[in-house]
Amino acid sequence: MTYRVAMGGFLHETNTFAPTRATYDDFVQGGGYMPMAHGNAMFSACRGINLGISGAVDYGGEREWQMLPLLWAGAIPSAHVTKQAFEDIVEALVTRLSAALPLDGVFLDLHGAMVCEHLDDGEGELLARVRAVVGPSVPVMACLDLHGNITARMVDMADMLVGFRTYPHVDMAETGRRAAEGLDYLMTSGAQPTKAFRRLDYLIPIPWQSTDLEPAASLYARLAELEGESVISASLFMGFPAADINDCGPSLVAYGPDASAAVEQLADEFARAEASFAGQVYSADKGVSEAQRLVRSGAVGPVVLADTQDNPGAGGDSNTTGMLRALIEAEVTDAALGLLVDPDAALEAHTAGEGASLAFTLGGQSGVVGDSPYRVIAKVETLSDGRLTARGPYYGGASLALGPSACLRIGGVRVVVTTHKAQLADREMFRFVGIEPETTEILVVKSSTHFRADFTSIASHILICLAPGPMAFSPSDLPWKHLMPGMRLGPLGDAFHPVN
Ligand SMILES: [Zn+2]
Repeated sequence: MTYRVAMGGFLHETNTFAPTRATYDDFVQGGGYMPMAHGNAMFSACRGINLGISGAVDYGGEREWQMLPLLWAGAIPSAHVTKQAFEDIVEALVTRLSAALPLDGVFLDLHGAMVCEHLDDGEGELLARVRAVVGPSVPVMACLDLHGNITARMVDMADMLVGFRTYPHVDMAETGRRAAEGLDYLMTSGAQPTKAFRRLDYLIPIPWQSTDLEPAASLYARLAELEGESVISASLFMGFPAADINDCGPSLVAYGPDASAAVEQLADEFARAEASFAGQVYSADKGVSEAQRLVRSGAVGPVVLADTQDNPGAGGDSNTTGMLRALIEAEVTDAALGLLVDPDAALEAHTAGEGASLAFTLGGQSGVVGDSPYRVIAKVETLSDGRLTARGPYYGGASLALGPSACLRIGGVRVVVTTHKAQLADREMFRFVGIEPETTEILVVKSSTHFRADFTSIASHILICLAPGPMAFSPSDLPWKHLMPGMRLGPLGDAFHPVN
């Protein structure tokens, strides 16, 4: 039989401590995600790229589902989603859902860490409204990001939640496919598998969550093993440790007759792994001087410095200047930094033209403590309209529109200045303004982990650096108020207790 399946997506990862909120226009633009797409335009836009919806649509096509498009909207991480953006997008999605009835199933591509101005659990609310339309017996499946802050309401309202297993998220499309396969199973069998959900009790700095590193690599490998043995589906969510809500933090979700036992077993393994979520970090100055030392000692390939605290994938505005200052003050001879998002500077560069040298006031607009705009004379080396195809495994061939952009040169430092924000996780994001990342001695990327997908293979070393920025490396540096009491603010860290 041909199943009628409604498909859509609404994604945001909210850093409640970040400087800027997500408006409706931010979802229209997409910022590293694909731009908002309604109806059939969603199917053509998502084809062949690395998103949950892409893998699900491929699978549905193979199974000859009758796929009914809702809408797909994602915005780059930031502070809260505005009430208006949430209500307008959800209303449009739910209206299309009602019009698509009767249905055999619903597939939703979600992030799972959305906090709105007017409610803490964006996905729980969305799933509840979807459930209210389709009723209790139509299976609702959600594909989620590894950084999901999962809530009991989400687990209650969906028949199944399935999470990514890689960070960098090179498996977004693959997870969408796996989730669609799970939905097919639910529709075919009519089963309503037993659910198990457990919140874990310590937050993890995002650079140490990478599945390129231990202990995450082994923990995620266990999920697939358990699915072969005792459960239909098991997911470990690392959580997004910058959302000041009660439900912030890592969690486990599993489905099937042995779901509870599987979750207990995984929780024990997570507890045993606690001390291993660790590594070395550098101040901006120390990171740059260590990179210079490595270059002098004959490092083969660029030394990559991750400016993790201004990662736009975690709510940063990608405009802090700490790493740029450190590079210039250390008089490095061959370095590149990206992306520095500064629409005014990009416009000034375009007005002045290639070859011009002029005074810029770069970045620092977000008012982050310890950061400020940087006044400097720079030469406009290259201009671009900001359109590029990101070919590495993270963006997976997506088209990015970064707006008017420029390569500015300050001595031995080249800076990629853009108008729009996207996480530097692809070598093309240097190349589009004429920088060859493979032959540059030092690269600074405004990213915490996703850059690894396209840079690990060329990097001689990767150093995690802490310049002032809105995404605190250590959750213990954030002014929490609403976290679950007892949650530890890092591996082996102190437990949170609300101050009355
Ligand atoms: Zn993520």
